[in-house]
Amino acid sequence: MARARTAEAPFATRLLRWFDLASRDLPWRRTRDPWAIWVSEVMLQQTRVEAVKAPYVRFLQRFPTPAAFAAASADDLLVAWRGLGYYRRARLLQQGARTVVERHGGSVPADVPALAELPGIGAYTRGAVASIAFGLPEVAVDGNVLRVTARHRGLRTGIDTGAGQRAVFAAVEGWLDRERPGDFNQAMMELGATVCTKASPKCAQCPVAGDCVARATDTVGELPVKKPPRAAVAVTARVVLVLDGGRALGHRLPEGGPNAGQVDLPGPGILRSVDAADVAGALVTQFAARVQTGAELARIQHAITHHRITLHAHAATLRQRGRLQWFPVTAATPWTTPARKVFAAVGVGEPEQRA
Ligand code: SF4
Repeated sequence: MARARTAEAPFATRLLRWFDLASRDLPWRRTRDPWAIWVSEVMLQQTRVEAVKAPYVRFLQRFPTPAAFAAASADDLLVAWRGLGYYRRARLLQQGARTVVERHGGSVPADVPALAELPGIGAYTRGAVASIAFGLPEVAVDGNVLRVTARHRGLRTGIDTGAGQRAVFAAVEGWLDRERPGDFNQAMMELGATVCTKASPKCAQCPVAGDCVARATDTVGELPVKKPPRAAVAVTARVVLVLDGGRALGHRLPEGGPNAGQVDLPGPGILRSVDAADVAGALVTQFAARVQTGAELARIQHAITHHRITLHAHAATLRQRGRLQWFPVTAATPWTTPARKVFAAVGVGEPEQRA
């Protein structure tokens, strides 16, 4: 690491002074309830702040305690998590809530080893809940914190390697304010989200710019070091839309696969590129269902990891239902996001269940 000049006040002092003035008013910052903090931290992983706000409020109204969520049905869980994606997080959160009920009488435990034993709580969530809800001196290192720290320390080791992450943890633990650990962790994340951003860091507004190595060595644009993302893959997927009153023909996605338990429109699969002529044959093979496919009704765009999917929805005449089933096109059915986008495009179903 390169050396930078020593700043006038400790890192945490400058950071917290800035955070006290500049922090955004977000729903999960108005509470110290550990369940609410836990829910928010799980939702915020891999999902933007703006996309989390409404589902967070809705979820806590529906499930205000771990016990309430522990008792939720599989369909209730999927509907409550709608709009957030990465449904595995919700299932792990429910396993964690059930463990809290079984082992801790329904109260989230206020100690780090007990938190660490809860299903679905990794190092980040554990640190966030321990520090923000209980004031325990634990660090919480997410993608924002990795980026800020790698730049500030001029770290040349990849932040997606064990050595790089150990270096970041060591730096953050050295900076941690033990009087205000929760605010410190949130301030680091806030700095990464609003000032030390991926694409256009605002170094002139940064409270810790004085001893930032990347700024001093003009290497902000080169840091953090990490593996290049996988190249995007274009997919042309197809489904059929067969409607009967307020119901549509669909199927449950199997356990163990992506979006398990959700209901999808019939097709050869969202990640398979197929021609329109191949759809009917695939439905015979997969569902013993016979349809005659017709005109294209809608075309929607959807992204899953590095796949950029163009999904064509075709009208179809049903000859034999096979293993397909009728599902109501309502908010209570956990339709997949692509299915809801198709419903929105063709104008069927209740507005609130559409994408
Ligand atoms: S000075 Fe710039 S690069 Fe350094 S931490 Fe602040 S915003 Fe990030």
